[in-house]
Amino acid sequence: MNYQEEYNRLKVEWRKRILLSFYIVVGVLFAAEIVMWIVMPRLGILMKYTGWNYVILYVLLPSALNLVIVMITRGIVLGQCSDRKKNFAIVFGLICICLVVTTFHGYFPITTGVFVAPVMVSVMFDDEKLTRTAAVAAALFLVISVFSAGIFDNTWTMAERLTNGLAGLVFVAAFYVICAVLLQFSEAKNTMIHSSSALNEEMQRALKIDAMTGLYNHTEFYNRLEQYYEDFHEQTTHLTVAVLDVDYFKQVNDAYGHECGDTVLIRIADILKKNCGGCGHIFRYGGEEFAVIFRHMSAEEVEKLMDKVREAINELRFDNMPKERLGISCGIYEYMGDDTAVQEIFSRADKALYRAKKLGRNRCVCYSEDEQ
Ligand code: GH3
Ligand code: MG
Ligand code: MG
Repeated sequence: MNYQEEYNRLKVEWRKRILLSFYIVVGVLFAAEIVMWIVMPRLGILMKYTGWNYVILYVLLPSALNLVIVMITRGIVLGQCSDRKKNFAIVFGLICICLVVTTFHGYFPITTGVFVAPVMVSVMFDDEKLTRTAAVAAALFLVISVFSAGIFDNTWTMAERLTNGLAGLVFVAAFYVICAVLLQFSEAKNTMIHSSSALNEEMQRALKIDAMTGLYNHTEFYNRLEQYYEDFHEQTTHLTVAVLDVDYFKQVNDAYGHECGDTVLIRIADILKKNCGGCGHIFRYGGEEFAVIFRHMSAEEVEKLMDKVREAINELRFDNMPKERLGISCGIYEYMGDDTAVQEIFSRADKALYRAKKLGRNRCVCYSEDEQ
């Protein structure tokens, strides 16, 4: 999983968590009103509504509205729409809960402060536009609440609600400024994380690759072989390994120098990529030895393909080594799903390669039991 996929997975997870916190908020509001209902008369506080009137207006109605808001938000967040819409739904859902709080729960001078919460929550989505929209929507809903808070409860006069609403707007504006700075910090931090994760991915890739030929290296050969060996029984595929070794390569180095030798290896790697890239996984096993793992071809099919590769290598011509003709020997072993250990797979292909060398080089040989 790369950085972006990981980050998206994280956002899905955290949207669910914030949704869970909505349930907690709604539960706390519900419990707080019940406690007030029990405690206030005992403290001798005069209540505007008592008995069922209180329960309906302060407990049941706001809780029902909050639950509807949470359910709609949940539907959007767990639904099929874009990530952006889901983030907007979370923030807008919270703004609606804030409106319910200011409208139904009295204490208008205090509850006006809740509108900063959606602006704060929006910061977690790293979206400047979302935070700006959250601040504007929160301010708008705060203005609405100045009027809606007077529908059931006239504890606060219109003038008081207006001045408190104004103070609330200042809070929202101040929080927006702080959140905008936090967002800039978050963006700078994300850029840093992103570049260090890209560097990490690049390093992980480099650990698997042979720099000269661009093929997978020796370590990766064994990693893959073990993985394919484990998958073999589940997927009922073939598992055939071909090991190739350039014939008399030392002579190339001795006659033309190591630089020319390197060019030869790069050209051979290119031939392998061209012929086996679509059907096999190619590795530079080490030095002038290459290996290819085939998961969908039998030993006979691989032998035919490797003969083609061998002929292409025989045909190679080099401007700076006009007389040079290259030969290549190849050993092939197909694992048949028996109890052969994974370590044995390469060594059997290598034994076949050894026989190809002994038989006169520049040929492909499949492993046979006699080689044991
Ligand atoms: P054989 O047919 O038996 O395989 O003979 P050979 O000469 O190919 O085998 P030998 O093992 O004697 O020599 C392999 C040579 O490959 C020796 C080493 O210098 C050379 N070699 C290994 N890695 C590299 C490389 O990365 N670049 C170059 N230029 N040469 C390399
Ligand atoms: Mg060798
Ligand atoms: Mg060799």
